[in-house]
This record gives sequence, C-alpha cells and structure tokens, in this order.
Amino acid sequence: MALIVQKYGGTSVGSVERIQAVAQRVYKTVQSGNSVVVVVSAMGKTTDGLVKLANEISQSPNRREMDMLLSTGEQVTIALLSMALQEIGQPAVSLTGAQVGIITEAEHTRARILSISTERLMGQINQGKVVVVAGFQGISNTSEIEITTLGRGGSDTSAVALAAALNADFCEIYTDVPGILTTDPRLVPEAQLMTEITCDEMLELASLGAKVLHPRAVEIAKNYGVPLVVRSSWTDQPGTWVTSPKVQERALVNLELARPVDGVEFDPNQAKLSLLRVPDKPGVAAQLFGEIAGQSLDVDLIIQSIHEGNTNDIAFTVNTPILKRAEAVASAIAPALRNQPNSDEAEVLVENDTAKVSIAGAGMIGRPGVAAKMFATLAQAGINIQMISTSEVKVSCLVDQDNCDRAISVLCDAFEIAASATIPQTPNSEFPAVRGVALDRNQTRLAIRQVPDQPGMSAKLFGLLSEHNISVDMIIQSQRCRVVDGVPRRDIAFTVARMDAENAQEKLTEMAEQLGWGEVILDSAIAKVSIVGSGMVGQPGIAAKMFNALAENHINIQMITTSEIKVSCVVAENEGVKALQVIHAAFGLSGSEKFVVPS
Ligand code: ADP
Ligand code: ASP
Ligand code: MG
Repeated sequence: MALIVQKYGGTSVGSVERIQAVAQRVYKTVQSGNSVVVVVSAMGKTTDGLVKLANEISQSPNRREMDMLLSTGEQVTIALLSMALQEIGQPAVSLTGAQVGIITEAEHTRARILSISTERLMGQINQGKVVVVAGFQGISNTSEIEITTLGRGGSDTSAVALAAALNADFCEIYTDVPGILTTDPRLVPEAQLMTEITCDEMLELASLGAKVLHPRAVEIAKNYGVPLVVRSSWTDQPGTWVTSPKVQERALVNLELARPVDGVEFDPNQAKLSLLRVPDKPGVAAQLFGEIAGQSLDVDLIIQSIHEGNTNDIAFTVNTPILKRAEAVASAIAPALRNQPNSDEAEVLVENDTAKVSIAGAGMIGRPGVAAKMFATLAQAGINIQMISTSEVKVSCLVDQDNCDRAISVLCDAFEIAASATIPQTPNSEFPAVRGVALDRNQTRLAIRQVPDQPGMSAKLFGLLSEHNISVDMIIQSQRCRVVDGVPRRDIAFTVARMDAENAQEKLTEMAEQLGWGEVILDSAIAKVSIVGSGMVGQPGIAAKMFNALAENHINIQMITTSEIKVSCVVAENEGVKALQVIHAAFGLSGSEKFVVPS
C-alpha cells in the first residue's frame, strides 16, 4: 500500500462532470489499496476571474486582500470534490491550508512554505478517509494569523510540499496535457511527449516559461527527493517522470527557505573572447558560432547585448587550451562583419587568465537576494566581475585567475558550503542534447548606461532590486568599456518580470541619478526563447544551431545568455512564437502527431 499525493489543476476540475471524473480516479486509486491526499486548484479560470474583479476596483489592489480573495477559489473545489467522493461511497474530508497547518512566511501573494503539520492529515488518513486539501494557500502566524497564497500556479508547489512532509511514495500532477512535452503544445501542436526528464532540466524549463509545473514544486522535489510524475487527467497514459538524484535527508523546517545554495563551483582555466561592435542584424551570432562549431571547438558561456550606437558585443568563454584556435576563427570572420575596412567595428578582444566561479542551487529561484549576496561578497573582497551569466539555478562570474582562490573562499564562507571543481556531467546518451524549448513572454528588458567598471557596482544594483523583492534574469555587462569623466564605464542590461518592470525602472533611475550613472532604459516588447538539455554539455554546435534557425528566419537576436544546460535568446515580442516554432523544428523535436489541448 502506498501513500500518494494527487494534484488536479484548474481545467481538470473545471466543471461538475470533471470533478466527478476526478472523484472516480481518486476512488479507483483507493480501491487499489492506496491512501490518497488530493490537492486541487480553483475551478477552470476562477482565479483569473477573481483577479479581474479586483482590477475593476483597484489598479494596485492591496496584497493582503488579494490573498483573501484568491484563496476562495480553491475552497470551492475542495468542498465539491469531497462531496463527489462521498456520493460514490468514498469517505472524504476537505481541509483548507489553515486547517492542515501549512505555515508560510508572511509575504502576501508570493509566500514560501515553511512547514506543514501532518497530524490532522494522518489522523484522517488512518480513519480511511481521502483528504482533499486546498492548493496554493497557507497561513502565516508571525504576529496574527493571516491567509497567504504562494503565487500563481502554486498548487503544484502545495502538492509536492505535502508529499515531502508526509514522506509520500510519490506525487502525481494531473493536468490537461499528457505530461511534459518538448514545448507548449498550444504554440507548437507537433510537440512530443517525454517519458522522463531530470529535475535540473525541468527546473530550467519551468522557470523559462513552461507553465506545466511551478518551478518551486520542482525545487522541492529535487531537494527532498520526492518522486514526481505529470499525467493527463483525461487518460491513463503513464505521463512523464521527473527524476532526481538521491538526496541526503533534510529537516522539514523552513521547507522552501533552507539553504538556497548547494555548492560553489569553479573552473580556473577559462579565457574570454569578445567581438566588439558587430552589426545588430540577424545572422551574426549564427555565423560566428557556426564557424567555431565547424572546428569542433566547445564554447562554454556566451553573452550578447546591444549597446550604444545599436551595435552588439558578443563574448564567450572557452577552456584555455583551445583559445588560440577559437581566436583564429573569430579573427578570420571579423573583416566580413565590418561595414568599412579598417574601422573599429568587429574588434576581437582576448582576455586570457580568467576563471569561472559559480554558485549553484535550486533554492535561488525567485530569490533575488542570492545573486546580490554573491556580487556583494565578491565586491567586499575587492574582486571585479568581468562577465556574469545566470541561469535559474546558477550564477556564474568570470574573474581574474589570480582572484579565483580568494573568490572561492569568500563565497564558501558567505554561503556556508564547500567548493568543488566543476565536474562535467555525463549526460544520458539515450536522449537528444536538447530536450525542450520554452518561451517566456512575461519579461521586459532594462538597460543602464555607463555604470563605472569597479568592484561593487553589480552588488549595489542588484542589492537594490532584491530589497524590493525583484528577481532579475539574464544579466549582461557590456564588453566594451568607455571612459566618461575619467572613469571607465560599461552598460549593464538584464531582464525582469513584466509586473516588476516599472518599479525597477523607477528605483534604478533614482540610484543612477544619485551615483552619476547614465540613463535607465526599459523595453517591454521582448520575448525570451530558450533551449534546455543536459546533453549539450561538451557538445559543440548546439548554440550555433539555435542561432542559425533564427538567422534563417530573419529573426534578430537582441540578447544571449547561456548556462551549461541552457541557451536563452531575447527577440522582439512579435517574433517570439515564430522563434519558438523554428527552433523546436531545427532540433528535430517535432512529432508527426498534433496535440489538441482540451479547453
Ligand atoms: P493546471 O491548471 O493543470 O495546473 P497549467 O495550465 O498550469 O495546468 O499547465 C498546463 C499547461 O502548460 C498546458 O496546457 C500547456 O499549454 C502548458 N505548457 C507549457 N509548456 C509545456 C510543456 N513543455 N509541456 C507541457 N505543457 C506545457
Ligand atoms: N488557482 C491558482 C492559479 O490559478 C493556483 C493554481 O492553479 O495552481 O494560479
Ligand atoms: Mg498549473
């Protein structure tokens, strides 16, 4: 007999008939000899409807009242499902987050779970009842008891956290698609189902826009080793398992807040190559990285951003032994990228003797303070950051090789962990290098001109944003340096969620004025498209293939960032869907069958 947590999303409980179908599935699971805790979402588009109502009354509704309002959606579903179960002879009881004892931090509309009491749940289970729990909600009890919610899509997180707290055998997420697909079938009907995916890959995909799982749910599954499967609530297909390596036992306190960083990693032998002032037009990145891949040279980090005069800087790192060959390729291409011979366009810059130092951990998702703490720690040690590359679960900084040991030691102290050299992962060769493609249409781009090139600037900037709880992604410092008022300066660009954009621009403008930095520019008409896969580690040509697919379709790349297992490109908003489709096809991920998602 197993203890199973089943979660049913909005569409799966969207009508009385659907709720009755869910009751049948739960009943069958119990009849097969299992104990079941069910977590449900609000019916259909109820939460969207409640948000709309609030917006009709206030443009910026009070966050406490939003929680009071939105938490009602799930309360309707638990009562109805419990009744449906009782109707078919299955004893059941509904419980709200507060009744279970799902304790969260006192952060309205985006609370993290701290702990979950299991007594009441276990008491009911032992009486043979199915417990139906309201997802997405909890209570904070710091001073007075308050209802909190976890953030949109948060019922997945409730379910996996319950599974961890109950030490359940596994957690099943029932939804309106047959599992995790290579991309969103609503945008690419030829998307294909995967039988399994690693937690790390899913963490990236979920954070980069694949809404099928809430990223924090994957984080908990990874940290607590909860076996997790995503299935269709319409069929009996096996779905997709999210696999995680064995974990050490963790305390169930501060569940979503415990240790945000698991490790400090480093690679002491990197060199950086930059191509400065290349034209801002489709095909440049494709040409450069295509030629490099043609020589079977493996590139590690890649960044690209637009700067003054609307030209791009592209920078990338390679392991020192292949630097000379990579440099030869870049120098050979450069003349073709110049509009006029002998101009300062397409200048090749080489910085030898650099090291990559990274912090890694699933707990940094949505916690802007973690990256800010890394930058502040390096700044306090007087270490300048030459290049930053971020993924959802890793922040990497390129520093002078001479500073590598000191950077590792101060970071290990700051995050109270041990360091390890970056160990190349051995990807599962059964699977293609790129597993999934995601589109995020919820981001905006901010750029700050002329930030002094001194230690501590990133710490200041991202520290300010983290004070206002604004998460940042795709941080890119320009490669070219310009001396203004006797101080060398660079531009810094990054992306933030749409809902945070104006607040971020306002706060940064105040800071920039005080410190004598340049203008803060906001561009909201962007989309971010990303490829994810553990198999891209050590495989030349993956990024080039993505850039090439965009170039062939005349889609200009505005920004690039990479981590070991993902490449993200910012493109114009109106080209986002097309970009997703052509990249999905370029990696051969399209199947012959078309998906139709139930509405
Ligand atoms: P639920 O209400 O069950 O939580 P969601 O709407 O939150 O469902 O998530 C399921 C949706 O996620 C699917 O209908 C699909 O459009 C979208 N989606 C985005 N990316 C993917 C992907 N890679 N695989 C499967 N579904 C995806
Ligand atoms: N009902 C909430 C939402 O729509 C939570 C969830 O469904 O996961 O965001
Ligand atoms: Mg969901």
